[in-house]
Amino acid sequence: MTVAAPPLTKLPNYIHGRWIESNATDWLDVTNPATGEPIAKVPLSDAAEVASAVEAAAAAYPEWRHTPPEDRIQPLFKLKQLLEDHIDEVGRIITQENGKTFAEAKAELRRTIENVEVACGIPMMMQGYNLEDVARGIDEIMIRQPLGVVAAITPFNFPGMVPFWFLPYAIACGNTLVLKPSERVPLTMRFVFELLEQTGLPKGVVSLVNGGKAVVDALLDHPKVRAISFVGSTPVARYVYARAGANGKRAQCQGGAKNHVIVLPDADMQMATQIISDSAFGCAGQRCLAVSVAVTVGEAQKTFRDSIADAASKLRVGNGLDEGVQMGPVITPQSKSRVESLIGVGEKQGAKVLLDGRNSRIPKCEAGNFVKPTILDDLPATSELADTEIFGPVLSLIHASDMDEALTFLERNPYGNQASLFTSSGSAARRFRYEVPAGNIGINIGVAAPMAYFPFSGWKDSFFGVLHGQGRDAIEFYTEKKVVIERWARDHSRKF
Ligand code: NAD
Repeated sequence: MTVAAPPLTKLPNYIHGRWIESNATDWLDVTNPATGEPIAKVPLSDAAEVASAVEAAAAAYPEWRHTPPEDRIQPLFKLKQLLEDHIDEVGRIITQENGKTFAEAKAELRRTIENVEVACGIPMMMQGYNLEDVARGIDEIMIRQPLGVVAAITPFNFPGMVPFWFLPYAIACGNTLVLKPSERVPLTMRFVFELLEQTGLPKGVVSLVNGGKAVVDALLDHPKVRAISFVGSTPVARYVYARAGANGKRAQCQGGAKNHVIVLPDADMQMATQIISDSAFGCAGQRCLAVSVAVTVGEAQKTFRDSIADAASKLRVGNGLDEGVQMGPVITPQSKSRVESLIGVGEKQGAKVLLDGRNSRIPKCEAGNFVKPTILDDLPATSELADTEIFGPVLSLIHASDMDEALTFLERNPYGNQASLFTSSGSAARRFRYEVPAGNIGINIGVAAPMAYFPFSGWKDSFFGVLHGQGRDAIEFYTEKKVVIERWARDHSRKF
């Protein structure tokens, strides 16, 4: 007799401090990318559900805005401790729904927590400035005030960290926030919102609406949403930025990437190999800061090619919850087919497949979406693939005769998220930092991910907007400046 599997958990939305089952007609399976198993059902919520979350946020705003900053950060201190206490549990959820290894999931959560810690400094960071006697007896002050209801829309690749580039800063500044996580990884925020519930945050200060494009469009069009923070692929970032702008909203939209590393012959080749291997293949290449093109200069070509191929071939690929696994699967079967077909495109465009991760079979994970580390050698610098975001474990090698030529490859890159240089030369490093058109620069660093107290910069097609996520930029983004000029009569007992 076969026993029917229990029905999958249907994920609720969190609106006005209550978990509410969505009335969506369409539900998607959330699937473990390592095993192919469905683990939950996520609703594609509609505009009415978004409207009710926005109304709850708008209703909570006046009281939250009047709450002193010192009191607004108390729930964040509690949240930090709750996240620390549950880091293994949240880490396992991230691995189950996203596929990255447990160690990578926990590293992601460290940056998540760091963003909470930085936002706890709001009573200092939100301060304005003032000057007495701008004219005789007249003083001028600048104060920052929150915007009101704000929204964040986030991608699949960092289910814990990316929502936290926004949430802690938005609410610490006195805003109320509606979050729409990626429909492919909704379980992490489900759990984190359960922790948020335990912090004593008033109802409506944070809400969670699951779904896809319809939820995004409803947030973009709702007149009470003042600002949109978005992270995802470039075409969607461009669309969100344009529609938010057309509706008069403030927007910060982070897009896709194609990140280059230049390896000079004077680099410490052993260190460069280890770090670049981690950058290209860590998180199965699904990091917006993953290095995906290595440009070797002069005699670095042969040494680096041999050492990176050796390092990549030794990486242990499998289920991220298994001991010793160093690289997990890509997110969906569609993503696996896309990555594999782009490897074929690279071949057609003139590259040699030095290490081929296509058609990989992982014991006990036959239904998983695995592509093993792949290296495309001698990819022509002007090929279309050299400018295409693959978002999988594929590193292309391009050769340049000198640093001038290498820099021209970086300049023509349509994206500007990250660029790295491996060298022992200070002057080469300074030139690189000075000239390269990208927002996050690594010198002997593979993943130049800014700490939470620096902005997560991004240039060109990797970012649409002015103010970035994290750090001081986040405070600027989530507040409006007000300037007050005051004159008071010296003796006001008689004249007024
Ligand atoms: P995605 O663009 O498919 O989805 C991002 C969000 O937008 C999701 O919440 C999704 O539901 C929503 N969305 C998708 N299509 C939409 C549409 N047509 N209209 C409105 N909303 C839509 O991105 P993804 O696949 O989840 O994430 C991977 C991408 O994110 C990569 O391109 C990666 O480089 C990028 N990313 C960038 C950064 C950065 O800091 N620049 C950080 C992380 C990820």
